[in-house]
Amino acid sequence: MTNVQPLAPDDLGPTVCVGEILVEIVATSVGEGFLEPIDLIGPYPSGAPAIFIDQCARMGGSAAMVATVGNDDFGRLNTLRLEGDGADVSAISLDPELPTGSAFVRYRSDGSRDFVYNMWTSAAGQLRWTDAVDALVNRSGHLHIMGTLLSRPAIWEIIDRAAGIIKSRGGSLSLDPNLRKELKNDDETELRFAKVVEMSDLLLPSGEELERAAGVSGEDAALCKLFGLGVGEVVLKRGAGGATFFGKDGCRIDSPAFLVDELDPTGAGDCFGGAYVACRRLGMTIDDALTYANAAGARNVTVRGPMEGAGTRTQLDQFITDTMRRA
Ligand code: ATP
Ligand code: MG
Repeated sequence: MTNVQPLAPDDLGPTVCVGEILVEIVATSVGEGFLEPIDLIGPYPSGAPAIFIDQCARMGGSAAMVATVGNDDFGRLNTLRLEGDGADVSAISLDPELPTGSAFVRYRSDGSRDFVYNMWTSAAGQLRWTDAVDALVNRSGHLHIMGTLLSRPAIWEIIDRAAGIIKSRGGSLSLDPNLRKELKNDDETELRFAKVVEMSDLLLPSGEELERAAGVSGEDAALCKLFGLGVGEVVLKRGAGGATFFGKDGCRIDSPAFLVDELDPTGAGDCFGGAYVACRRLGMTIDDALTYANAAGARNVTVRGPMEGAGTRTQLDQFITDTMRRA
């Protein structure tokens, strides 16, 4: 068994994620864009950080969200969902003027997607450090960071401040790099990224993001570099190929995916991460955490809507019993 450092225990305080909340409205037909009237279904609660927190809470981990929504039904839909699933919503603020963020999504036949977003011009763009955020962060035990947000100065300020506070009270930190290889960030974002990697106890890259996060080519070289920087563990998400844990001590655990029919891939990585962090903080073994995380990701892709397939522990236990795994 690997002697990896545990993440901060659940009773130190909730796992916090900072970022966007939005609703997703999805085309029911496959095709290109929105240039004619088409059938749509939604609104579904969404936003990568919110999906992560919802799955974390459903798994039974303590979880809390830092976000801003509008004073409208899209905001209420999200807040009520998170609250109903057991997440702490005390640091979700209401913007009095701007609407809650939204994304219209349509899948093309090749699996790629067309989007019409109203994200940073919505209430989500008004996210600031408030007294409620301060109170939450000062009783939190873990921070999960979405790499996509590091290029936004106002959000970076919140993440950086929260990371410092949570780390100093013995909390842990995880990062989903979410950095596609072809995407070159500005220098400032790269510096923020490097700072976060160095502080991270757990990295949750998917596919080529492992090498991108390390800034070197080759899986072994990337892992070596990341562990040298102080990262404690890396869990590589491989879509329908499952996931692999890499420990600082050279330990490797491959965990096969569950065999499912993918209906809507959105949110798989966030459900995987939310479940994994919750399980580890609840003191489960890495094997068990990987099994629940794979189940959470797989279950979520079988249901339409980005957060609709997030499973409770009971639902995931049932899913694990009922579902075959790939060889
Ligand atoms: P996203 O596409 O949401 O950004 P990601 O790229 O971060 O996600 P993926 O590797 O696509 O992450 O999915 C995360 C996990 O979900 C996988 O490691 C796997 O456990 C599960 N998963 C995703 N897609 C499938 C699938 N088609 N079949 C089975 N399991 C899946
Ligand atoms: Mg994916």
